[in-house]
Amino acid sequence: MTTKKSLAIVTGGSQGIGFAIVETLIAANYFVVIADLHAPAVDIDATQQATIHYQPCDVADAQSVKNLVEYVMAQYGHIEVLINNAGVVCQGELTSLSQDTWQRVFKINVEGPFLLCRDVIPIMQQQKFGRIVNIASVAAQTGGGFLGNTCYAASKGAVISLSKGIAREYGEQGISCNTLCPGYIETPLTAAMSHEQVTHAVQAIPAKRPGTPSDIAQAILLLVSEKNSYINGVTLNVDGGLIRY
Ligand code: NAP
Repeated sequence: MTTKKSLAIVTGGSQGIGFAIVETLIAANYFVVIADLHAPAVDIDATQQATIHYQPCDVADAQSVKNLVEYVMAQYGHIEVLINNAGVVCQGELTSLSQDTWQRVFKINVEGPFLLCRDVIPIMQQQKFGRIVNIASVAAQTGGGFLGNTCYAASKGAVISLSKGIAREYGEQGISCNTLCPGYIETPLTAAMSHEQVTHAVQAIPAKRPGTPSDIAQAILLLVSEKNSYINGVTLNVDGGLIRY
């Protein structure tokens, strides 16, 4: 398939924040490949079908990531945008956390983005162009609390450092890598929060409402824009004013 449209890979793109990013990129004229453990549950309308492709992928599995990137290159021949969005949350106090849980969270939240970046950046280097956005969380800066615990916060802190390192290493080659930190966003991930937790969370947000997946997707558009060639290595909080730095 040959095309002049830019191609974006969105991990964890089948639901929640990821799917909103997919819809927003499609509306902005991108081809999008969703890399997720499961296909989108929502119906993809006829106009979207021509530009969205679902490819099963476990971001924590090196071979699965390699297969994904090979598939995309065979089908489209280029990758302009990579959104590392897939992630899992973790709860419970540190002293009762098993090593297995710690390792699983880091494997998906940190090793996943590493594997994707490792396999996609060489393609972006050849193109002399690439836009990478890694999704972390405000938990990286607060130590967690609302839903994610210390392990989750630490994994998302590592995502911020990963982005900064990539920005430093490849910024000269037309590749940017930024981190987006969502605040409290209403998705299947946060649906398990109790009424009390939601009320408590919203009280602390100056916007006095939870964020929507679309709030995150709009910020992504700015970071991946071809015209945006001088924002690199930043950590952008999209949180209704919660963190304020
Ligand atoms: P979500 O509703 O749980 O969606 C995440 C998607 O990623 C799901 O489709 C999930 O599949 C998929 N996924 C999980 N592990 C994967 C793997 N190993 N390989 C490929 N796909 C995998 O989560 P969300 O709320 O949209 O969150 C998206 C990102 O934003 C995450 O990184 C999260 O940490 C971050 N974030 C969210 C919030 C919030 O308030 N929602 C706040 C801060 C940061 P399964 O459903 O099968 O697991």
